[in-house]
Amino acid sequence: ATIPGFMAEVRRRYGDRVAAVFSQTGERWSYHDLMRRVDRLAAGLLSIGVYKGDRVGIWSPNRPEWVLAQFATARIGAILVNINPSYQSAELHYALHHAGVSTLITAPRFRDSDYLAKLQELAPELATARPGHLQSEKLPKLRRVIQLGGDPMPGAMSFDEVMSRGGAAPKARLDGITAGLSPDDAINIQFTSGTTGRPKGATLSHRSIINNAISSARAMRLTPDDALCIPVPLYHCFGMVLGNLAAVSYGVKMVFPGEGFDPLATLKAVEAEGCTALHGVPTMFAAMLDHPDFDRFDLRSLRTGIMAGSICPAPLMKRVMEGMHCRDITIGYGMTETSPISFQTAPDDPPARRVSTVGRVQPHVECKVIDTEGRTLPVGQQGQLLTKGYLVMKGYWNDPEFTAEAIRDGWMHTGDLATIDAEGYCQITGRAGDMLIRGGENVYPAEIEELLVTHPDIAQAQVFGLPDARLGEEVAAWIILRPGAALTAEALQDWCRERIARFKVPRHIRFADDMPLTATGKPQKFRMRDMMCQDLG
Ligand code: ATP
Ligand code: MG
Repeated sequence: ATIPGFMAEVRRRYGDRVAAVFSQTGERWSYHDLMRRVDRLAAGLLSIGVYKGDRVGIWSPNRPEWVLAQFATARIGAILVNINPSYQSAELHYALHHAGVSTLITAPRFRDSDYLAKLQELAPELATARPGHLQSEKLPKLRRVIQLGGDPMPGAMSFDEVMSRGGAAPKARLDGITAGLSPDDAINIQFTSGTTGRPKGATLSHRSIINNAISSARAMRLTPDDALCIPVPLYHCFGMVLGNLAAVSYGVKMVFPGEGFDPLATLKAVEAEGCTALHGVPTMFAAMLDHPDFDRFDLRSLRTGIMAGSICPAPLMKRVMEGMHCRDITIGYGMTETSPISFQTAPDDPPARRVSTVGRVQPHVECKVIDTEGRTLPVGQQGQLLTKGYLVMKGYWNDPEFTAEAIRDGWMHTGDLATIDAEGYCQITGRAGDMLIRGGENVYPAEIEELLVTHPDIAQAQVFGLPDARLGEEVAAWIILRPGAALTAEALQDWCRERIARFKVPRHIRFADDMPLTATGKPQKFRMRDMMCQDLG
């Protein structure tokens, strides 16, 4: 199916049920409301000249219009380009230019970032252009800017205006366009998180993301009686596929606690809406559990959800299962390039496996582990994980070389290290690029991180290599302590020495209140490394 074909079915089945609740604005939409608005926006986009295959960028935090843009662009076969809300001018320029975005939907600002000012830096012509007829030197493809809220800039249209142009949505025309779409059409360009450097534009199809959403929803056993809290960003596949599309596929109520992640707002939304499912990257769950007001909330409605995005420490999983009552929480493993999830735990997996592995490969997906020469490794041995199937992206947008390197013979080379046991349970042991070599010994940061977070005083830990004149690289750790805890580097090193080989014990330790994260909340080791290098001189 295509996304709009699928949505028509969803509307028939679940029309009167609540589709979405936005805690910040108080809006509540039924599935009928949602689809009516989607059709309006789709018709409005058509009326301003957006057609199949055109790239429509969205640069906005989680707002109601985001959800509409996601389904409205799909309705007319336009390709939605997700742009990270935390991008600065240069990154924004790269994304818009690289994807050839002709229409940009944007919010005026997010947190302390003035989006309009940043946009105007790139396209000063916006101040004098006629709306819809922008001609910008630096962004030659960009024609239209649609502004969400606030007084629109002279060259921009307001979102409401586009909606009202679609007022009398010509449903027959929309249905005609929808009927001409193919499940294998590109529908989305999603940039990867930028955890390891410059984000790459993964191009996904209707087929890949719908099927992935359905698979993940099934693993969580979602039904129309569930309510899924989505504090993860929509610009990322975690939000728009595992959140929105997964919810929609089973008529689930989506609950959006706010524009950007806030632990308190998320806890409030879960309680107020009786959420049964909650998504997050590990750092988000940790932030909620460690919030000083955590105990004030009644979270007994919770049952499931997905923790994914980076290594999910077993002690954190246990706290989520017990402290948050989220006994059927699942771990997902995946990447933007695979729509995103390829492995997921299930509530009936053996308890130990549910907290220490990423589960088994998803239905209709193949996997294998290879060594550095490309040979398939036997069960239990560590190597690079490869995945294959409907979920693999069409490619990196406009980047055949990068694509050819990532996808060979249909196999996506994940760049992640893993082992898979005889029963098919997979353990992610880190990113191939994160491994460090200390005096000739291979050191896998994930193994040390896993140990560190079992220390009672430690809330979060990241391990990486720092250049070392004598050994090539040395082990470094970035530590966030639990509230009220006091721990010294020496005491921590002693504690480690009793538990792991000496060469793995972090030599450089930095205690900090937070860590550099991507907008998705993923720890950026390359930035921690830079910061610690500077400290060392
Ligand atoms: P970039 O590719 O731009 O450096 P990124 O790889 O973080 O950023 P994403 O596609 O958002 O971008 O994330 C996919 C990666 O996240 C995976 O390759 C893997 O390293 C990590 N990851 C995701 N889920 C898990 C998990 N459950 N356990 C361990 N690692 C995970
Ligand atoms: Mg990646």
